[in-house]
Amino acid sequence: MSYKNFPMVSRVMFGRGSFNQLDEIISAKRKGRETPFIYYVDDVFKGNHWLTSRISLSYKDKIIYVPTAEEPKTSQIDEYVEDLILEFSERPSGIIGIGGGIVLDIAKAVSLMLTNPGESKDYQGWDLVKNPAIYHVGIPTISGTGAEVSRTTILTGPERKLGINSDYTPFDQVILDPELTKDVPKDQWFYTGMDCFVHCVESLNGSYLNAFSQSYGEKAFQICKEVFLSDNLNAEEAQDKLMMASWHGGMSIAYSQVGVAHAMSYGLGFLLGIKHGLGNCIVFDHLEEFYPDGVKLFKEMKQKHNIELPKGVCANLEDEEFDIMIDVALSLEPLWENAVGKNWKETITRKKLKALYLKM
Ligand code: NAD
Ligand code: ZN
Repeated sequence: MSYKNFPMVSRVMFGRGSFNQLDEIISAKRKGRETPFIYYVDDVFKGNHWLTSRISLSYKDKIIYVPTAEEPKTSQIDEYVEDLILEFSERPSGIIGIGGGIVLDIAKAVSLMLTNPGESKDYQGWDLVKNPAIYHVGIPTISGTGAEVSRTTILTGPERKLGINSDYTPFDQVILDPELTKDVPKDQWFYTGMDCFVHCVESLNGSYLNAFSQSYGEKAFQICKEVFLSDNLNAEEAQDKLMMASWHGGMSIAYSQVGVAHAMSYGLGFLLGIKHGLGNCIVFDHLEEFYPDGVKLFKEMKQKHNIELPKGVCANLEDEEFDIMIDVALSLEPLWENAVGKNWKETITRKKLKALYLKM
């Protein structure tokens, strides 16, 4: 038995208003006048003085606003990297991502691809990255994905949707400022928050479970219940707590795996472009047979917050389209093994997955 030796986020700051200290934190990392800090910022913050006035640009520093209608593609990462190489004579001092899972993943991927040759699609998988990344900082503005703490950056490539999982992927610095999440629209708050809830359910009910994952998973699960089902928290407490749930949920899956909802949601994402949080919700709603207690709680949360999920997203698909989704889902073998056990192939057939997709 060989145990995995995981890196973690090296430094983390937590607190409402801690974003104000960004400049103080990173200035020690500046290498020189020609080596800028590059900020990837969710374009929802364009023109948002409250946030952007606290980013202080010096020398050649630059803000790049990132559209988030679609999840990141390997080609998009390659373009961002190419742009930096063409515009600047030297490699940046640091890459800073400010936004949701999309922007955090973009910041991670760009920082990796600045020091590793070739195209980002060639690094999708496990431990294919050779060189350490550029210094990179993650600042989440919505809670749930765990992308702020994970050792992956999930990208859609020409052939698959798969993470670049490596020891160099985790952020060097994370700033957890729950105040940054105050204007997240309610539906999106629910979808991304449920990503965390689903991480916990899949981790806690998986065959890979161990005390490490369980300790983080149980904590995140408890916080999710508090945030989404109790009436005892004010808005600020709920923001603070959900940010920590996301962190713990991410830690929980570091040493285990996700499961059925993620496998099938990746299929929806790859074929139909349905985003991760929403896709997980659409799938999870129909997974009673795998996660009876979790799905029951999920339905309570959905009702409490009046969330209407899209229906019939697979209703008009052709057989070949089902095949594409099923191929993507089945290729994620560790997820199925975690969810169903070593002999998962006996019960998880193509027919079974098609029947499930048809319910969605
Ligand atoms: P997202 O990044 O798409 O953000 C969701 C929406 O919320 C966007 O429209 C964004 O503009 C908006 N938003 C974000 N912060 C806001 C704020 N403070 N105020 C108002 N609006 C705000 O969604 P997400 O659910 O955070 O992330 C999903 C992405 O994360 C997917 O690409 C998924 O693959 C990835 N992911 C990565 C990991 C990982 O470990 N790397 C884990 C899970 C998911
Ligand atoms: Zn997820």
